[in-house]
Amino acid sequence: MSYKLFIPGPIAVSEKTLRAMSQPMIGHRSTDFVALYNAIQPGLQALVYTQDPVYISTSSAFGSMEGAIRNLVKKKVLSCMNGAFADKWNDVALRCGKSAAALKFEWGQPVDPAAVRRELATGAYDAITIIHNETSCGCMSDLAAVMQVAREFPDVISIVDTVSSFSALPIKKDELGIDVFITGSQKALALPPGLSLISVSKRALARAATIPDRGYYYDFLEFQKNHENGMTPSTPVIPLIYALKSKLEDIAAEGIDNRHARHARLNQAVRDHVLAKGFKMFPREGYGSVTLNCFANNLNIDLAALNKILKSKHQLVIDGGYGKLKGKTFRISNMGDETDGTIASLLKSFDAAFAETPKLAS
Ligand SMILES: *Cc1c(COP(=O)(O)O)cnc(C)c1O
Repeated sequence: MSYKLFIPGPIAVSEKTLRAMSQPMIGHRSTDFVALYNAIQPGLQALVYTQDPVYISTSSAFGSMEGAIRNLVKKKVLSCMNGAFADKWNDVALRCGKSAAALKFEWGQPVDPAAVRRELATGAYDAITIIHNETSCGCMSDLAAVMQVAREFPDVISIVDTVSSFSALPIKKDELGIDVFITGSQKALALPPGLSLISVSKRALARAATIPDRGYYYDFLEFQKNHENGMTPSTPVIPLIYALKSKLEDIAAEGIDNRHARHARLNQAVRDHVLAKGFKMFPREGYGSVTLNCFANNLNIDLAALNKILKSKHQLVIDGGYGKLKGKTFRISNMGDETDGTIASLLKSFDAAFAETPKLAS
């Protein structure tokens, strides 16, 4: 049975993207590959708002997130934590044998710039990790405000995860002074999983050069050296790079400003519709994500039953809450290729399914 994903990743992949993947293989050291690699750089740099290269990594985002830690942390990293992915990133740093401090906020609360300043001012840190859009609880922090604080500390390398917000709104790497910008394929970009993108500043590369145990697979200096020849350090997932090229063409055809406006409009449409049923937002007001909505299940409905109906009768699924929020929240994605029409149809299905969903005994 086929059904459409409205969970916040992986998300639905278009037929066009799937077709783009079904092309003959080319050698990753061939001139054809170099042409492919070089052809997509300008489009990627435009989306990252950077003059720096955008490396292509064959892994999910967490590979690059671990790689950034290994390349850049010598003294101690400050992990800003306001959701499941941020919590995990802190754990990843510790598992890499690095010294890492947890700057915790309640799930659904944004990263507080003043708290970041207080911590960084101790002088204990040489890196900070920030998740722009905490997908687990639908909370989008004010990245400009956090980066303004980070820039006050020239010894601190900033590493920012934009996995679920990339290309849905402008995130201006160079202007904000982000040193390492990381994203993945299966969320905001609407590609299949397996590829991640990393853009690294010159000062971050200079830091990496001073760190001996960077490993190989994620060595940023290897990425840079290969980039200069239009290649990746090891054999990349070529079908996904074909898909990425196709997606960049789609984005150019739509126009980046139109793409941003579409995400804002569809996000608001879902939010208004579901709030009108009596649900509340989970994240703090003013910090809701633009690519998904995370609603509190304050009406105490049986989310498992709701999703069962959605899947069997409407051929779609939403998300019934991440980790410790399972059953307590639900999330609906508007990432990727959704349109006014597909969102209207989703909301119609939601209404019909909601009408037959039982409440849980309280
Ligand atoms: C999904 C997600 C990740 C992890 O991505 P993987 O592809 O599973 O490695 C990291 N950060 C955020 C914000 C995410 O939404």
